[in-house]
Amino acid sequence: MFERIAIIGMGLIGSSIAHGIRRSKLTSFIAGHTQSESSTKVAQSLGLADEMYPTPEHAVQDADLIILCTPVGTYESLTSQIVNSIKPGAILTDVGSVKKYVIDAVLPHLTQDIHFIPAHPIAGTEESGPASGFAELFDNRWCILTPPPNSNPKYINKLKSFWEAMGAKVEFMEAEHHDTVLAVTSHVPHLIAYTMVGTADHLRRISNFEVVQFSAAGFRDFTRIAASDPTMWRDVFLTNKESTLDILGRFTEELLALQRLIRTNDGEKLFEYFTETRNIRRGIVEAGQDTAIPNFGRDNSKK
Ligand code: NAP
Repeated sequence: MFERIAIIGMGLIGSSIAHGIRRSKLTSFIAGHTQSESSTKVAQSLGLADEMYPTPEHAVQDADLIILCTPVGTYESLTSQIVNSIKPGAILTDVGSVKKYVIDAVLPHLTQDIHFIPAHPIAGTEESGPASGFAELFDNRWCILTPPPNSNPKYINKLKSFWEAMGAKVEFMEAEHHDTVLAVTSHVPHLIAYTMVGTADHLRRISNFEVVQFSAAGFRDFTRIAASDPTMWRDVFLTNKESTLDILGRFTEELLALQRLIRTNDGEKLFEYFTETRNIRRGIVEAGQDTAIPNFGRDNSKK
């Protein structure tokens, strides 16, 4: 599909893309670059790229597809660093969890002959680094493309075909709409998980509360989410500020309403509320976005 693909940032997503490219034979040459020496060595030992380059400028040379797989906060400086090394006609894309900021940060640095098509695969785990990737990560998951106005349809279709070959289903959205949807489905839930785990940890410190020993399923799921990469999530909140704060405001209102129902012993309304939320869970399972197997299909015997 591409003669040469460059992957910048060999973490969970970058390494999973490398595995997926190999599985579907989408290029004959993967050029890689990642920041640290230690990750470069791991990427080399796993054969994630045909060659790992010491600088991003070297990695992108002659590539016809360049994929930025670093935390969103690095995109602007990385783009200005690589722009003069990108060959005319190449597609530049990314995997960032935020889209409006990415377009604002990257597009002004580009020349007209570089085709920038932002993308966001809705797939991940709480793991990070080059050893955490696997080819199946994107299978049957959505990948959202947010091409800026006036993007060339030929290149949009090529990137769509790329993600389909990686096993994903492709959807198109406007960048701002993407950021609001993801604030609801991913960003604010992560913030709530961070807060809940932080609250429990604070309690543990001040009163020797048995948080780890008696951690129940609900709290364990929060800790799994709260174990996600700190750099990536710091950047997500700082670059999707508006939507996060908007959804957080709505969340706070709902929380206060529930607080009132509990205080006033309104069991009927609480029951109605929880019945509706249970239906949402069923809808997600029916849409094939999660499994109905108890404990989300996780095998606790391995833990
Ligand atoms: P990750 O596992 O922490 O990997 C990030 C990689 O970027 C690391 O290999 C790191 O290199 C490298 N890096 C950081 N700064 C760099 C720089 N200036 N130049 C070159 N390499 C640099 O994170 P991830 O989960 O793959 O996330 C990467 C991107 O995917 C983020 O933009 C995130 O928003 C997006 N995303 C994440 C998920 C998810 O669930 N994790 C899902 C969808 C999209 P070193 O290891 O060498 O320091």
